[in-house]
Amino acid sequence: MALKLFNTLSRSIQDFTPLDPAGKNIGMYCCGPTVYDFAHIGNCRTFVFADLVRRYLEFKGLAVTLVMNVTDVDDKIIKRVRETKTSLREFTGKYEDAFFQDLKTLNCLEPHHKPRATAHIADIIALIEKLVARGIAYKAADGSVYFSIEKYQSAGRQYGQLVKLNPDELRPGERVKSDEYAKESVADFALWKARVPEDGDVFWPSPWGEGRPGWHIECSAMSMKILGPEFDLHLGGEDLIFPHHEDEIAQSEGATGQPFVRHWLHGAFLLVEGRKMSKSLGNFFTLRDLLAKGFTGREIRYLLLTAHYRETFNFTIDGLHGARTALARIDECLSKLREAAGKPNSDSAGTHSFEGRENADSEIGAPNGLTARFTAALDDDLNISAAWGEVFKWVTQINKRLADNSLNANEAAAALAAWNKIDSVLGIGTTSELEVPTELNALLEARQAARKTKDFKRADAIRDELKSKGWVIEDTPKGPKLKKL
Ligand code: AMP
Ligand code: ZN
Repeated sequence: MALKLFNTLSRSIQDFTPLDPAGKNIGMYCCGPTVYDFAHIGNCRTFVFADLVRRYLEFKGLAVTLVMNVTDVDDKIIKRVRETKTSLREFTGKYEDAFFQDLKTLNCLEPHHKPRATAHIADIIALIEKLVARGIAYKAADGSVYFSIEKYQSAGRQYGQLVKLNPDELRPGERVKSDEYAKESVADFALWKARVPEDGDVFWPSPWGEGRPGWHIECSAMSMKILGPEFDLHLGGEDLIFPHHEDEIAQSEGATGQPFVRHWLHGAFLLVEGRKMSKSLGNFFTLRDLLAKGFTGREIRYLLLTAHYRETFNFTIDGLHGARTALARIDECLSKLREAAGKPNSDSAGTHSFEGRENADSEIGAPNGLTARFTAALDDDLNISAAWGEVFKWVTQINKRLADNSLNANEAAAALAAWNKIDSVLGIGTTSELEVPTELNALLEARQAARKTKDFKRADAIRDELKSKGWVIEDTPKGPKLKKL
């Protein structure tokens, strides 16, 4: 079966066909972070979803080029730069580094390109110049350059491809300068914002005077520069559909006169304990907050990957405990399989090779086995819940075969190979020492130091704290290590 994905452009599930005539290369763009704070769990959901798409396309043999931009100049950033009295680069650099570290913690593969808006000012200006030359953009009295929806439409283009807009809502001639606005206030939007005193020293020269780019234009400029005027896939959270993505289409198609993106994919939002995340409700978690509570990137990734990307996801701390239990079940099965794969085959088991055992095949890894069923589930618009259903069915069957000793070493090795193949998509691997959060390793070191100075009360308190976070201390020949409870 071919891969089918929901396309926001057509509002329907479509076959995913690469633009590349050879059917091999895929250009994929995902709107990246605005680097003014640490990534929260909602952001994580969107980026884990993008990673799933990329990994699955690669699993299917496609060569993906993933571009993820870094928005390192916008209204919120400038405000924080002013408040913290830092330079733009110093301020954004800190959060940019933290973001890519967080992606690693979540085991998201690194994007091939991570362009920063401020490193592409010349490309952004060139794109605005094209729009001005085509009569679709104009300089207003405030010195800023705006995109004219009316001119775009009279050039035969449609504004409102991703969302249905009521023509009465369009307000030709009216303007919005803010990057974020509601559907009800559709008006000409800013491509270049003229410098104002509050911008401090955040500005660049341009043919229209000093200023800075709007948010939407940066994604059009950087995506087309790296992936070409038309590419396969564009992703983001559902909040970006309007105006951000609608405006990206307008700017790009307005400048090139050709279709921009073939397939638009949007991830639904994440709620925390049933409510919109907000600092005032006390239900706002950054990834780092959750690591400090003793959860691992692997557990968080697993939990975020349990729901279909088009379903609103309700994140809870209980859910994370459930993720821990589910992963322990997988780990236990894999560890027994490894043991079984290492054992020499007994005479009787050796007589039927893995390929020869029709019934076993469907349970393990052969053509009609785990990999095939997993693929069928994900081909169906990334039906991840069905895919996990197959994984846990497989775990049950393997456990049964291990318990009645009817799995030979070849079969165990084949089962592990099947697991590794599907794990190239899931990216949950197996536990390793590396996944111990750094703060917890620091606690372990503090405990060792307390023991050295014979402060056993403190050493015990630290041990208890680690235990309350789900970790026990295990003595190994290389010294004490943390192990999940
Ligand atoms: P930002 O850093 O705010 O520009 O957001 C980065 C990405 O996270 C965007 O693709 C947003 O759509 C996405 N995002 C923000 N909040 C949430 C949320 N609560 N749930 C899911 N995705 C989100
Ligand atoms: Zn974007």
